[in-house]
Amino acid sequence: MIVLKFGGTSVADAEAIRRGAEIVRGRLPREPVVVVSALAGTTNTLIAIAEQSAKGHLIGALRAVEGLRARHLEQADLLLGAGASEVSAEMSATFDELAQLAEALSVLGDLTPRSLDAISAMGEQLSSLLVVAAYRALGLPAEHVDARDVVITDDQFGRAEPQVDAIAAAVRSHVAPLVREGRLPVLGGFVGATATTRITTTLGRGGSDYSASLIGAALQAEAIEIWTDVDGMLTADPRVVDGARLIEQIGFEEASELASFGAKVLHPSTIAPAVRLGIPVVVLNSRRPEGAGTLIAFDAPRRAVTAIAGKEKVTLLKLRSPRMLLTEGFLRTFFSVFERHRTSIDVVATSEVSVSVTIDDASRLDAMMGELRELGDVVIERSRGVIAVVGADLSRSPETMSRALGALAGATVHMLSLSATGINLTMVVDGDQVQPVMRRLHEAFFGGPAA
Ligand code: ADP
Ligand code: ASP
Ligand code: MG
Repeated sequence: MIVLKFGGTSVADAEAIRRGAEIVRGRLPREPVVVVSALAGTTNTLIAIAEQSAKGHLIGALRAVEGLRARHLEQADLLLGAGASEVSAEMSATFDELAQLAEALSVLGDLTPRSLDAISAMGEQLSSLLVVAAYRALGLPAEHVDARDVVITDDQFGRAEPQVDAIAAAVRSHVAPLVREGRLPVLGGFVGATATTRITTTLGRGGSDYSASLIGAALQAEAIEIWTDVDGMLTADPRVVDGARLIEQIGFEEASELASFGAKVLHPSTIAPAVRLGIPVVVLNSRRPEGAGTLIAFDAPRRAVTAIAGKEKVTLLKLRSPRMLLTEGFLRTFFSVFERHRTSIDVVATSEVSVSVTIDDASRLDAMMGELRELGDVVIERSRGVIAVVGADLSRSPETMSRALGALAGATVHMLSLSATGINLTMVVDGDQVQPVMRRLHEAFFGGPAA
């Protein structure tokens, strides 16, 4: 069995969906299971609809609902012609429900994470219905499987935690039997539901990759293929750096570091379920399916530097406390505040009397401040950015460090950290310095744009 995940641009319209169908057809002997994202841009629009509605801008929100409806129905027409009526009716029912939710939110004036998930999950519910209908019309034995029956999670709306055992059981009962019967299961990514009450949850932005890898792990698939709009994992984000090059093979750990530090091509949690079972993950371009893509696996070549990644909007938190001096357990107390507030830390640096950390998601920061102030003086710096130079063995060549530091020239560095395993050198700079520094680092390690 093999899991294929098509990202937003790879199901953006009728043409992309047809291209995907041909990719799947070529893999039928390998017993594929398909996971799809929402049509490109849909999740952003859904979130905007929810937010606008709760602010009372109902007319604008309903206009956006109708825009989305028209887009989905148009693609159904292009794919299915006269045969579109059934799936169009199903999708329209979802849009009617969306319009009702928008109205309810505008009355309530309050958007809870739970309602936001109910709305943002609709993109994948719609795309999976559309893809099933299109695949069937193209002669593929597609069967819709509701992701909410399979991807069982806790109730942390917006970034729900998958429950691996429950997912394995659900995959055994809802997905694997279809494959054995020669059918082609198609599920929406990103979406899950709580175990007993089956309330809709989501796995966090970009979470369809994670769905694919959770399902792949539960199926013990031979591979997980992430079909996207670039040739694979590249030496940097091609939207930032001209001449970023394809990485043909990369180790799980390096890929995971890159994803965590901004390489959006892969959701940061994607690797974990695959790595546990040694399932290779391959990143491929749905517009150029003949390319080899990037193979993420254990046995990748060990390069000094593999790639550069960066994130522009991180929060830097500095705590200074004379109490730290010679006190055992201080850091544990400090980190436990983050643990209690389920806020994950990316980069850490310490001195005898201070500790600095960066966090991606600052939504719980206000709630944490009371506890942090009890420990010492806290300074918060928003609009910082973090850049990661990732490689299998950064410390091996002394040149690596001097090149990296050279590329920082002119930028204010707020923090610097080299992971003990020598896999990741991270630097915290001003947010607006992330892109220029990434370009200089790329030039220093990989040379200029390819001719
Ligand atoms: P999808 O909708 O298929 O999931 P995403 O937009 O989430 O696609 O991810 C693909 C995008 O990731 C690319 O278009 C690219 O701009 C960005 N990206 C960032 N870093 C990298 C990298 N190192 N290699 C490849 N793509 C990257
Ligand atoms: N549609 C979701 C998002 O835009 C999930 C995904 O595409 O992976 O975040
Ligand atoms: Mg993505």
